This record gives sequence, structure tokens and C-alpha cells, in this order.
Amino acid sequence: MVKAIVGANWGDEGKGKITDAMAKEADLVVRFQGGANAGHTIVNNYGKFALHTLPSGVFYEHIHNIIGPGVALNIPVFVKEIESVIERGVPKPKIMVSERAQMVMSYHILFDQYEEERLGGKSFGSTKSGIAPFYSDKYAKIGFQVSELFDEKILDEKVVRVCETKNVLLEHLYHKPLLKPEELKKELLGYREMIELYVSDTSAFLWQAVQKGQNILLEGQLGSLKDPDHGIYPMVTSSSTLAAFGAIGAGIPPYEIKKVITVCKAYSSAVGAGAFVSEIFGEEADELRRRGGDGGEYGVTTGRPRRMGWFDVVASKYGCQVQGTTDVAFTVLDVLGYLEEIPVCVGYEVDGNVTTTFPPTVKLEKAKPVFEVLPGWNCDIRGIKNYEELPENCRKYIEFVEEKIGFPITIISNGPGREDIIYRESGRKV
Ligand code: GDP
Repeated sequence: MVKAIVGANWGDEGKGKITDAMAKEADLVVRFQGGANAGHTIVNNYGKFALHTLPSGVFYEHIHNIIGPGVALNIPVFVKEIESVIERGVPKPKIMVSERAQMVMSYHILFDQYEEERLGGKSFGSTKSGIAPFYSDKYAKIGFQVSELFDEKILDEKVVRVCETKNVLLEHLYHKPLLKPEELKKELLGYREMIELYVSDTSAFLWQAVQKGQNILLEGQLGSLKDPDHGIYPMVTSSSTLAAFGAIGAGIPPYEIKKVITVCKAYSSAVGAGAFVSEIFGEEADELRRRGGDGGEYGVTTGRPRRMGWFDVVASKYGCQVQGTTDVAFTVLDVLGYLEEIPVCVGYEVDGNVTTTFPPTVKLEKAKPVFEVLPGWNCDIRGIKNYEELPENCRKYIEFVEEKIGFPITIISNGPGREDIIYRESGRKV
């Protein structure tokens, strides 16, 4: 069975933790989009890890971890990450990279930086990992596919073509040093050496796995609201963050995705610029940021403090809808244990009207939050294993959210660790 694990919000919902917990019963874990621009934090028996590129199944020896064609593959980061998990005692993971995946080149990272510099205060808050330039080139058909590394004739021709177009921008728009074809070639050959061992026809492998009825997890990066079509454009990422794209970015039939587990955070956090209706500020935000996640809400890739807010019903309901959610995994609930009362954003006021429908960015910028305040449970819920043992107000909070968003919350995460998980109906496994 194929299950997608994706985010309902702005990212950082705890997808890595849920994937790591569910991977125990999976055969394959596949990354299908995005690159090293965001990270998953995983806490397990080997320690605490920040993964940027590796699928979250790397901690299990039985799992085949796959980098699908839809991923923006940064080879040096990929190789370094493998080395770093092995160094920390994790058995050498099984990893395959699609020969159809494309590579993030060093100039993509430079263009990302140059563009942010050029935009100054009007920048998109990019992580400067080269993701937007990478996907622009992919769709402009001047990207480098892993398979091409093994055909020097193609490389020779292409490095010249790429330098021609890139150098126009470097010279006239950014006023930066120009690219040289021979240096690009050298970079590419270096990548070939680093990646050779891992390259294979992952589409054929996945096809076989599907035929055999193996358990496959598709692991999303970021969340619904960062999707280029359905999110808060232009403050979005450059590849689709939706489960539907999992079929494309991994290379499996869409009808094989039987479960969409949408990870939804019990409060809100976001990085980068863009409308964030339920955002809170000052001491109230600082306290939630300090207590949030596992050791505070700071970006895994950038270390930037995350923007904080209360749970947003409007954004999360929409986020679950566009994912095609079958199950919600409700995470970091334990963090809210310090509060006497918990505000929840239940509607947006736009031009004097209250709506529960998530509007496009131009209207979103004008939206004001409408809050409803729920009683807190005011205690630590970590370590609880059964839903019925959660404090009454905690269950009420979960059930309130569930009713408002309209999707079943079947998994509850009450701590960062692999074992800190409650399946809603006893014994129920999604
Ligand atoms: P991802 O990209 O969606 O995997 O999310 P991140 O790893 O960026 O952020 C989630 C943060 O919350 C990480 O620090 C996790 O260790 C942590 N985390 C995940 N689930 C829980 C939870 O239930 N409780 C607490 N306290 N922390 C959690």
C-alpha cells in the first residue's frame, strides 16, 4: 500500500517524526519533491538528526530509501548527510537515486543569493539553497539530469549552452563573475564520482514494489500553503508539496496512493515572508517559540527563528482539503501544556465579512483573525500512550479542531521521540 505523509500548513509540522515512526512497518520511503532547502528533525534511538535531503527511512536497515525524479538533488549535501548519519552509529542505509532526478548546481545557489541581494527588502525570504533557480531551469529544459552525467558528449554541449544564458544575467543583471564551461564540467564530473554508487532506475524498482504490494511511504517536504499552485503565492516553494504530486515526483500510479496522512501542527509556525493570519508577537510568541518543537522553533536549515501563531482552522482545513487527506496526524500537542487558555483562529475577517474559506494571497493579506478561546489542560501529556488517558480539555481541543477542519485525527504526537505517538482508536494503524 502506498501512503503519503505530507504537511497541512507552512512546513515544520513534524513530518519527519511521523515518517520515522511509521517507517517501522514500511518497505520503502520515497522523497518526491523539494531539496535541501528545508529539514526534518528526527529524534530516535540513535540521537537527534536534522535531515535535509535523505528520506526519513534511513534509520531502518530494512528500508529502501529513494530519491525520486521530482527532487532537487544537491549531491554534496546528499553525500555529506549519508556520512554524517553513519558516523553517528546508524547502519549504512540502503539508498537509491533516480537517474531522472536533476541536480542542484553551484550556480543555482549563487543565483538564489544574487536574486535575494537584488530584491533587498522585497525578497521572498529564500533559504538560498538554489531551489527556485533549479526548478526554473528544469522547466526551461536547461537542467542537468543525473543520467546525463554518464554521457560526456551531452555534458560538453550542455555546459556551453548553460553558460551562454547564465552569463547574460551574471554580466548585465547581477554584475557578478561569469561561469566557465570547463568549470561546470569539472563540477559535474565530481558529482558523477560522488553519486555513481547510488544511481538506478527507481521508477522500475517502485513499479515492482507496487506490484508486490509493498508498503511505500511518500515523504513530503514543507506543507500545503507553500505549494506553488494552491499556497500563498508568491511566498511559496518551487515544487508541489501535495500528495497528488507524490505520484509524479516519485513515479508511481496516482491511484495507488491509498492513504494521505496530513501532518497538522497543534499551533502555527512559519518561516519566511508572507501573510500569516493567526500570527502572534511579543512575549506571547517568544514563549511559544521557546517551548515549541523539540528545543525551540528555529529553522532546521537556516537556524532562523520561526514566526509563531495559534492554530488556524481556516488555513488547516484548506491545507487538508488540497492534500486529499484521509487521516490527520496532529503534532506537537504536548507543547501547549503550559497554557491556561488556548486561542484558536476559527475564521478570517476580510472586508468586514467573516469567512472560513481560505482566500488567495491578495485577500489573505487583508484578513484579520477571529479567535475562539478554549480552556487549556495545563499539564504535561508526554508519555501518555492511550487517547482516553489524555486530560479532558486536551481531548476537547483535539475534537474541536477535528470538527472544525472536517478530517479525522487518527494520530496524535505528544513528544518528539519515535515512541511519543498515540493512535486514536486503540490498535488502529493507518
Ligand atoms: P518537518 O519538516 O515537518 O519534519 O518538521 P521539523 O523537523 O522542521 O519541525 C518539527 C519539530 O518538532 C522538530 O524539532 C521535531 O523534533 C519536533 N516534534 C515533532 N513532533 C513533536 C511533538 O509531538 N512534540 C514535540 N514537542 N516536538 C515535536
